[in-house]
This record gives sequence, structure tokens and C-alpha cells, in this order.
Amino acid sequence: MRKRALITGIRGQDGAYLSKLLLEKGYQVYGADRRSGDSSFWRLKELGIDRDVKIRYMDLLELTNVMRAVELIMPDEVYNLAAQSFVQASFEQPLLTSDIDAMGVLRLLEAIRMINPDAKFYQASTSEMFGKVQAIPQNEKTLFHPRSPYGVAKVYGHWITVNYRESYNMFACSGILFNHESPLRGVEFITRKLTSGIARIAKGLQEKIIVGSLDSKRDWGYAPEYVHAMWLMLQQRQPDDYVVATGETHSVREFTEVAFRSTGIRIGWKGKGLREKGIDKKTGKTLVEVSPEFFRPAEVNILIGDPAKAKKKLGWRPKTTFSRLVEIMVEADLQRVRKECLP
Ligand code: NAP
Repeated sequence: MRKRALITGIRGQDGAYLSKLLLEKGYQVYGADRRSGDSSFWRLKELGIDRDVKIRYMDLLELTNVMRAVELIMPDEVYNLAAQSFVQASFEQPLLTSDIDAMGVLRLLEAIRMINPDAKFYQASTSEMFGKVQAIPQNEKTLFHPRSPYGVAKVYGHWITVNYRESYNMFACSGILFNHESPLRGVEFITRKLTSGIARIAKGLQEKIIVGSLDSKRDWGYAPEYVHAMWLMLQQRQPDDYVVATGETHSVREFTEVAFRSTGIRIGWKGKGLREKGIDKKTGKTLVEVSPEFFRPAEVNILIGDPAKAKKKLGWRPKTTFSRLVEIMVEADLQRVRKECLP
């Protein structure tokens, strides 16, 4: 019999890549969608799998809805990827973020415990839980110090997952994933904002990009490789928690430089702080500006993960380099812009 997987957050970046991976492995994939009003499944379409995933309406805010979905599907594996995942928005909507990212995990775990306790469970935890980092690099034993309502809610999601494993002997794993990007990343996130903006600048459709902190450093990996780590966690003999990261860190400034370079534009920097600007070295035009609008009330300055445990126990390792990742994203956005420009 084909294994059945339930993926929450099917409409997101990771939901799309994970669906593709599981379909290739022969799973029946059920995607939970909360009917947000956006009726397009553009990511599933881009991967050519929109007809292969069975969509089930399910909102993590509604327990009865979650229970019915678990009862109907009776999944072998549940991947909880649904979240209000944009850190900046979590400062504007801290209660909603907590209800989805913290209590939503509990609702799903309770539904599984009551209806289908043998199902294996994956929780999408995040490096944002490390926030004001207590050690460099961060591993599974590093203390959490989240710096946003998003990070705080995800800490709850992490610990309730561990608690259900320890209390009820459930096969529940928490994957502490560092930033992972791709052409399917939402445009609200800085990496995609940069690559889509730069592609538009290169084609003369946009003048400049306004960003927040240029010196924030992140450990950026390639999303299709990260969903493979999620699957590997649920195939182990014992449930456990793993950091998934590249072990390298790069600043937003470096990301910007590499992204511009892959369109043939060399960028130089002038000024300091809020007056800093990214200038096209050839034309002298201002292409990047800084605005406090995009600063977080509490910043996370540096994240760098130590994936040693995932390497040793899961046999997982990152393959795509930082510069190749940026190129892949810029190439995809240039192609999208070319299509937009077609008569
Ligand atoms: P994403 O693109 O933002 O996708 C999140 C999905 O969750 C969206 O499809 C959204 O639905 C859905 N969702 C939001 N509220 C919901 C609710 N109340 N009920 C049901 N679904 C709801 O995120 P992603 O980048 O794929 O990330 C997947 C997961 O990994 C998230 O939990 C994220 O926090 C976590 N994570 C991501 C990264 C990263 O770098 N990408 C790193 C660490 C952890 P709509 O489409 O309807 O809005």
C-alpha cells in the first residue's frame, strides 16, 4: 500500500518541494490548505504537481477541522509546515502568530494523539528560536533566546513536540532548520525581494530596492535539499531533533552583491547607516536604499548552524553553495520577468 502523507502549509515553499519529493517516492500526498482566498497553487504548478496532490481544507486555528482531516486521511506521516512564517509580520500580529505557530502545533498533535497516534510527526522549527545567539555556531544543545513573537511561538511548537514524544511515546521530530531559499520563496522575504527586484532592475522595470539591515548574517541553504532532511528524520528508527544548516554565514550585503553580479551589475556602497546606498559602479545610479521601515524591533544579527548531527545520523549534507543558490534564484526571476515582458 502507498504511504499517505499529510502536509500542512501545502501552498508554501517547503510544502511544494516536499510534495514533489514524496510523490517521487511513491507517497499519496494530501495537502492541507486553509482557504486563504488566494486560489492559486502557483508553486505546485511551477513544479508540475498541482494535479497530483489531493487538497483538503484545514485551518490550524480550528481543532474540529484538524481532527476531521486527520480522521479522513489517516496519514502515516504528518509534516507540519503551516505557519505565519514572516518574522516582521509577527510583530504586527503577535496573537495570531502565536495561535497558529504555537497552539496550532498543539491542536495537530492532540488530533494525532487521539485519532492516529502511530502517525509520525515532523514539526517545522527554526533557527529564529536562537535569536540573540548564546553560542556560535548553534547546534541542538544551544539555548534558545528568540527575538520575535514568531521565534517565541516556534519555541513553544518545538517543546510541545518534544513533550508529546516523551509523554506519549509518539514518533515526533523537530527539525531546526536554518534559512532555506529557492525560486519558490515568497517575495516578502529579503532574498526573494532582492532577486525579483534585481531581475526587474536589470530589465529596466524597476529603479531601486529598499531594504532593512544590510549587515544581518544568515546561514542560507537551498530549500529542495532541506525538505529531504525532513523526510530523512521520519525514516529513522528513533524520533529525534536535528539542526539543518550549511555551517556558513553570509550578510544581506553579500547576498545583494552576488545577486547583482549575476546580472552583470557591480554594486558599490556609499554612506553609513540609514544614509547608506548601493550604487551601480558603472552608471553611478542608486540601486539600493536602506529604510527603518524594514528594521525589526529586536534584530537577530547572526545565525550560523552546526549540522554535524544531521550529517552523522541522517547522512544529510548541503550541496548547493551560497553563490550558486543566489544565481539559481536570480536566473528564475529573470526568466519570470522575460515572460512578463512578452507582448
Ligand atoms: P511559507 O511559504 O510561508 O508557507 C507557510 C504556509 O502555512 C502557507 O502556505 C500558509 O497558507 C500556511 N498557513 C498559515 N497559516 C495557516 C493556518 N492557520 N492554517 C493552515 N495553514 C496556514 O513557509 P515556508 O518557507 O514554506 O516554511 C515552511 C515552514 O518552515 C514554516 O512553518 C516556517 O515557519 C518554517 N521554517 C521556514 C524556514 C525558511 O527559511 N523557509 C526556516 C525555518 C523554519 P497561505 O498560503 O494560505 O498563506
